[in-house]
Amino acid sequence: MSTVVSEAREVAVTSSYIAGAWVAPEGKTAQPIINPANGETLAMLPYAGAADVDRAAKSAHAAWLEWREVPVVDRVQPLYRFKALLEKNVREVGTILTRENGKTLEDAMTEVKRGVQMVEVACGMPSLMMGDSLNDVAKGIDCRTIRQPIGVCAGITPFNFPAMVPLWMYPFAIAAGNTFLIKPSERVPMTPTRVVELLLEAGLPAGVIQLVHGGREVVEALLTHPLIRAISFVGSSPIAKIVYKEAAAHGKRVQALGGAKNHLVVMPDADLPQTVDAIMGSAFGAAGQRCLAGSVLVPVGEVAEPLLDLLVKKAKSLRVGDGLEPGVAVGPLVGNDQKKRVLGYIDKGIAEGAKAICDGRSIDAGGAGAFLGPTVLDHVQPGATVAREEIFGPVLSVVRAENLDDAINIVNSSDFGNTTTIYTRSGKAAREYQNRIEVGMVGVNMTVAAPMAFFPFAGWKDSFFGDLHAHGKDAVAFYTEQKVLMTRWF
Ligand code: NAD
Repeated sequence: MSTVVSEAREVAVTSSYIAGAWVAPEGKTAQPIINPANGETLAMLPYAGAADVDRAAKSAHAAWLEWREVPVVDRVQPLYRFKALLEKNVREVGTILTRENGKTLEDAMTEVKRGVQMVEVACGMPSLMMGDSLNDVAKGIDCRTIRQPIGVCAGITPFNFPAMVPLWMYPFAIAAGNTFLIKPSERVPMTPTRVVELLLEAGLPAGVIQLVHGGREVVEALLTHPLIRAISFVGSSPIAKIVYKEAAAHGKRVQALGGAKNHLVVMPDADLPQTVDAIMGSAFGAAGQRCLAGSVLVPVGEVAEPLLDLLVKKAKSLRVGDGLEPGVAVGPLVGNDQKKRVLGYIDKGIAEGAKAICDGRSIDAGGAGAFLGPTVLDHVQPGATVAREEIFGPVLSVVRAENLDDAINIVNSSDFGNTTTIYTRSGKAAREYQNRIEVGMVGVNMTVAAPMAFFPFAGWKDSFFGDLHAHGKDAVAFYTEQKVLMTRWF
């Protein structure tokens, strides 16, 4: 059994789940899991190594040989029970998540609920996996397609959505008849461990899911293991690129979702109060540590001054603190190393000519917490570091544009293309923006244009490497092999 405790009052060990047993790999790296709000050690995480991955992959392969024979209507039954267990334990899982990641409890519970939606959609696999058929494609010949599972699949996930992102992957893979190895971020292992415990409580047969905690060594073993057929990755762009290349070089199917630099374009006709509320949620929610967080504000023309006046006033009123405390809007960054990184970007932005019109550096929310208040850097040049690189903190860079064409050029010159939103009352401007913009997920007047579980999720350019996106019908295609059957009876 895992020794992760829901209300971790003592230091626990976060175990891996390999070959049907909870294990704490010994003699390898073990790192403390720190609550970023106060520096408290929540648990120790022993890392698995290549030998553990090999054991997990062999066990998953043996399990797959049986699991693929289970009718899909029966395969989804544990997922129905898993959905109910997740719903029952939303607060408990959310609390673990807030303690190890920092985001507010409300945000954490919303994340768990988004994960539940993934399970719901995966429960529809009997319909989603259906193929096509056509009789008499030639005289007396019928043709149909079927989808079959591909085998052992693996997922590697980031720190910022420890409940939801693994659930983008394994519910779909498992329902489609595959078995799955999940390697969560080593920064936030407790949440995904608790979620896997719930999946096992729901009655998933041993071996169908394997949880392998660790770092680079585990990832490298997953990317090269001959029994693993497909890799789903979500994380930063440099690692996504490595994962894409390495897994493909080893003959695997890969989807690798990377980092982001998301632009929010505000037209002069935008509804200002509603737009400002949306920008606040986008840029400062989860302390800016969302892959869909607004990171560059592009006010068009004369809207800049009234927009920034209202935005700064509201940003200064946001309460920064421990995400478990009611009324807190901005929790800590995931750790003090990340805070240092973000502070470095703010310094660089100012050195390159920006002006901090809202400066979160002076926020003191207490103790050893990795707190940083909302920060707005105005007069950022389009080529400046803070306009181009992913900061992943509550920092909004303002790059002013003269008109819509100018704004579109600014957005399209980015190396990234994850998400963007335009704020306007003009259908014409919104339509033109949606058509011309080189970004994967585009919102109009949205806070966060996050596709629901039944739609695909991924960006363009350096935000995504691969073909089939996460969740929705793309996940069904990704986790299955299509076969064409042609039949003639004499
Ligand atoms: P990260 O790239 O540092 O880590 C992601 C995973 O890769 C982790 O499991 C980690 O253990 C592993 N990893 C890290 N370095 C590695 C290496 N050198 N070799 C092999 N594996 C390695 O990302 P993170 O800091 O955990 O998460 C934040 C990043 O994820 C941001 O860039 C964010 O934009 C991105 N993200 C993207 C999406 C999306 O949908 N595109 C969603 C969430 C997060």
